[in-house]
Amino acid sequence: MADVMIELLKTHFRQLRLPTMGQEFEKLARDAASGNQTFVEFLLSLTQLELAARAANAVGARIKNADFPVEKDFDTFDFTALPGLSKPKVLELGRCEWIEQKFNCCLIGSHGTGKTHISIGLGLAACRAGLRVRFFTAAELVSQLEKEQKQYTLDRFLRQLDRVHLLIIDELGYVTMSRGGVELLFRVFGDRYERSSLLVTSNLPFSEWGQIFQGERMTAALLDRLTHHCHILEMNGESYRFRESMKAKKGRKPE
Ligand code: ADP
Ligand code: MG
Repeated sequence: MADVMIELLKTHFRQLRLPTMGQEFEKLARDAASGNQTFVEFLLSLTQLELAARAANAVGARIKNADFPVEKDFDTFDFTALPGLSKPKVLELGRCEWIEQKFNCCLIGSHGTGKTHISIGLGLAACRAGLRVRFFTAAELVSQLEKEQKQYTLDRFLRQLDRVHLLIIDELGYVTMSRGGVELLFRVFGDRYERSSLLVTSNLPFSEWGQIFQGERMTAALLDRLTHHCHILEMNGESYRFRESMKAKKGRKPE
């Protein structure tokens, strides 16, 4: 191909915002010529590359926007360490139908059993399925809600949360919240009820949620909404970190 035509084509792809096609067309054109492909076959593979790159970029952007504290997936989760947790059930949740049905999910159990790990795994699965996700610890979310309220930007922030298909609230119950904080969180829970999904993790069984929400009535109303359409996974067991560090210590003492 004449250099000038190549440069012109590159410009066209840039103007049309087709960067992958712009990068790949020369190589694909050479392959097509040597492989006796038709023009249609060549165009098909070129456009497929652009679409694949776009899909990968979109997943990457959704993962970035979700703001996970780390990226942990099911492939690094040892399900044998927590026999009470059903692997098929977790993998089924990873197919994200529950999010399309506006169901919620609660992971309840003692510390170090992988609640955060599994919640991130489910969040990543949702990002890959084309859904928008946001991850907060309960403390972070409440402090952001309070900040937005002070700055008179609460409505805008709530609208942002509204656009998210899955809101993950990790570590509910670790820190006590102010009355105002609880009311704001209550509003978020109420807004999402039957409209979009929540994934909540907590070290406290539901019977002790009165401590988090200061007051039985508020707690009962909130639990009622949260658990109405909800997958509840109990994750009780020995702390994985603790077990691993005990194993490592044993391994270091041969005599
Ligand atoms: P929790 O949120 O229940 O307190 P985390 O998810 O933070 O627990 O788990 C603590 C650490 O142990 C993390 O680094 C996590 O990746 C790891 N972990 C916990 N359970 C498992 C498991 N069954 N297999 C692999 N890693 C695990
Ligand atoms: Mg955790």
